[in-house]
Amino acid sequence: MTSIMEVKLNLCCIVFILAAATVKAQVNPEMCRYPLGMTGGQIQDEDISASSQWSESTAARFGRLDFDTGDGDGAWCPDIMSEPGGFKEYLQVDLRSLHFITLVGTQGRHADGMGNEFAQRYRIKYSRDGSSWVGWHDRMGNQVIEGNKNTYDVVLKDLEPPIVARFVRFMPVTDPSLIVCMRVELYGCEWLDGLVSYSIPDGHQMIYRGLDVFFNDSVYDGATAQRLTKGLGQLTDGTWGLDDFLHSHVPGAWPGYDYVGWSNKTFPKGYIEVVFDFDHIHNFTSMKVHCSNMFSRGVRLFRQATCFFRSESEWEPDPMTYRPSAEPLSQSARFVTVPLGDRTASSIKCRFHFGDQWLLFSEVAFQSVFSTRSCTSSGDDPTHKVDDSNTRILIGCLVAIIAILLTIILIILWRQVWQKMLEKASRRWLDDELTARLAVQTQAFSFLHSSQSSEDGSGSGSISTYERIYPASADYQEPSRLIRKLPEFAECSGSSSRAGVGSDGAPHYAEADIISLQESSDSGSITAANMNLFAGSDSTLREFPREKLTFKEKLGEGQFGEVHLCEAEDMQDSLSEDTSMEGSSESPLLVAVKMLREDANKNARNDFLKEIRIMSRLRDPNIVRLLAVCVDTDPLCMITEYMENGDLNQFLRSLRLKTLTGGEADHSVKLLGMAVQIASGMKYLSSLNFVHRDLATRNCLVGKNNTIKIADFGMSRNLYRGDYFRIQGRAVLPIRWMSWESILLGKFTMASDVWAFGVTLWEILTLCKEQPYSQLSDEQVIENTGEFFRNQGKQVYLPKPQCCPDRIYGDLMLSCWRRNAKERPSFQEIHVQLTESR
Ligand code: AMP
Repeated sequence: MTSIMEVKLNLCCIVFILAAATVKAQVNPEMCRYPLGMTGGQIQDEDISASSQWSESTAARFGRLDFDTGDGDGAWCPDIMSEPGGFKEYLQVDLRSLHFITLVGTQGRHADGMGNEFAQRYRIKYSRDGSSWVGWHDRMGNQVIEGNKNTYDVVLKDLEPPIVARFVRFMPVTDPSLIVCMRVELYGCEWLDGLVSYSIPDGHQMIYRGLDVFFNDSVYDGATAQRLTKGLGQLTDGTWGLDDFLHSHVPGAWPGYDYVGWSNKTFPKGYIEVVFDFDHIHNFTSMKVHCSNMFSRGVRLFRQATCFFRSESEWEPDPMTYRPSAEPLSQSARFVTVPLGDRTASSIKCRFHFGDQWLLFSEVAFQSVFSTRSCTSSGDDPTHKVDDSNTRILIGCLVAIIAILLTIILIILWRQVWQKMLEKASRRWLDDELTARLAVQTQAFSFLHSSQSSEDGSGSGSISTYERIYPASADYQEPSRLIRKLPEFAECSGSSSRAGVGSDGAPHYAEADIISLQESSDSGSITAANMNLFAGSDSTLREFPREKLTFKEKLGEGQFGEVHLCEAEDMQDSLSEDTSMEGSSESPLLVAVKMLREDANKNARNDFLKEIRIMSRLRDPNIVRLLAVCVDTDPLCMITEYMENGDLNQFLRSLRLKTLTGGEADHSVKLLGMAVQIASGMKYLSSLNFVHRDLATRNCLVGKNNTIKIADFGMSRNLYRGDYFRIQGRAVLPIRWMSWESILLGKFTMASDVWAFGVTLWEILTLCKEQPYSQLSDEQVIENTGEFFRNQGKQVYLPKPQCCPDRIYGDLMLSCWRRNAKERPSFQEIHVQLTESR
């Protein structure tokens, strides 16, 4: 008996200590997409129930996605849905604890070809306590989800907004006379916050320059009256608002959508009160509140937060008060961390004092450890004191865990030292290799006559630095594991030097590899690194006195740092004739200033300078013009022409908000006009044999009169981190835009830019409504790439956009994705074809 108690206590203390060591952070919906256990079996049979079943062999427990065999008939099937119009039948999953659910998957009954039933449409209901149920609906209010079209394919549906629930019901919506069967899976992660509801005053409406801006909590799932109670909503949906609260991550949303906000006019006491209720008692370390700080529009962070705590029935008398330190100078939205002093509570009531006319919140998250109470076995007295022998066990536990942690830290440190040494060695090796190769090329061709190719193709010299990656870095081995899953690829890895595959089978995107990968037809390509070599004394770039720049507003933020709109005094005078811009005689001139962040490391600094070098050489109406630089002192800045309408992705998404005038044909003409401009810019780059490597709408900018210019000769952006395949949380490869040979062989050529152009064209014609292959996970996109490689007709193409003319899809878009790179059209051909089709 004693030993059982000891083991229990031991386990408990380990759980407690681990929980204490793990600082909980807010949920990231992009990462929180793990299958919760219908397929994998972590969800027990007894936790799957249903309103009814057709027969014992189609009981609830057979409703597991991708589970075809066993003693059942291959799915859950309810009894005939007898009530006309009533959709009462459901399959219920109990997850045993609260979960953040971002995705659901459904499948019909296949049963080795015997099945014929599936749910074409269904609804979702969920509950956190098992007694009050909420019907899920999307951001537009639609409850019904499109389900399956056959008995075998899995159809995944993103829950937008995601839900926090313990119980989930799938309710088929079908003709009551039909038999319907379902298999399901839920995807998400555990909801560690423990927050079960928050209560807030209803959000207000702002009129900003004649525009209605709504700050209501539009996805709140509790009771809504003057105050919203007993529910969760936008403050816990994992989506943070943008700096500019008029814009939103959500396509088609109204201004102010991402924020819940209040005006101080209706709160005479000068604060709003928010009550947070938790599933049980926690020790709270801190609370993070994501707030807007657009003080130019009367919105500021809160001036003070006073939080009260409750574990029993009464609020404790001694609250915690916190005042954010210095007034932030920047208008960026941010998380403010409010320390909660390890206070114990199951409810927290916070009063947020207005710092200005408006208070806007988009997310709240808590960091806590389980209360020591959770360490008592059930039925124990919560005030129970641990006796001496238990204290010894506790100390033993602590020592063991500290020893384990120290060992882990030592291993990590040891690995890092090794990695650094290997990186240094490989860098030296790469640089030597690169210098040698480029030295040969320099003799072979000059910048202006760069298209001559060497016979064997090895002198092609096409290296662009999308990102500097060193073969020895363990971080970059990861995708290869996925790629090595493709059996044919394993064969390829034998000829590592030709195929650009490392000795470990991993494709390396290192510069030296890429040089050796160029086809002879692509020889003479000029990219970032050798651009550097060619940057000679004829450069027209000027150092601009930074004191003549006056900050106007922040335009955005990229990999390198912030981009600001500035007035540049006397800029016209300092521009060379070649660089001066038409129609910009007014003084001072509006310019965009991209600054390298202060904490940038050496690689980022080199990449930034490299982008400057590249851009200084490019002159085309459809390429963003670099006007001047400030590189004599830090922070390094590049000054480019200002593109009034921001990036093309955001621009197209916002088009959906306004009503597009004209008919469908009219729209496609306008959209194709944009594509023509990108094709023209790319035609220019290809005339220089320059490989862009990251063509996408997010990397094009929109100026006056819908002028489009290609930008970003550097790297990826924070705003679009979801577009890049992440390895251990780092933004690396834009795989959804990359050709199969770029992903599998690390081969970047003009033809792979053509592939990316096809995807960009698809984005334009879908008004960037969704990410390419949005139904596929990153891993599935890579699998699909494998299908292109295998070429057995199983590869999936992006579908024809609704307003895309048939010939543009059939003759142009699909041809950009031909397996054989040589069969893809050139940018010259694309430009002609698009111009003629308008
Ligand atoms: P980047 O660092 O180039 O990725 O840019 C980050 C953000 O700044 C983008 O989302 C653009 O909206 C904005 N931006 C960059 N360059 C310009 C420009 N020349 N004109 C207007 N907006 C820009």
